[in-house]
Amino acid sequence: MLAARFPPPGVSNAAPAAYNSGMANSIWTTEEFTCPGCGLNYTATREDQPSKRTGSFACMVCEAEVHAWSGRHDYFDWTAVKMRSPIFGRR
Ligand SMILES: [Zn+2]
Repeated sequence: MLAARFPPPGVSNAAPAAYNSGMANSIWTTEEFTCPGCGLNYTATREDQPSKRTGSFACMVCEAEVHAWSGRHDYFDWTAVKMRSPIFGRR
């Protein structure tokens, strides 16, 4: 028998990162950036917006511009990421 099951909510091919709890209509994706000045890594959450936004984010350490954006999206929740495995350093 065909069960009259309600289809699962959401979009089937959405990115897993969009599975944040919160607003039902927002697609959030997490993106990574690296400071061009000091190399510190950041993550930011990108949210689609109905209207055009412009903004920029400056490094908390060296104040270099890490990312500037203009378009129908916004970035928020900037977080510095600690290096898990430093590339530099010889052994
Ligand atoms: Zn920096």
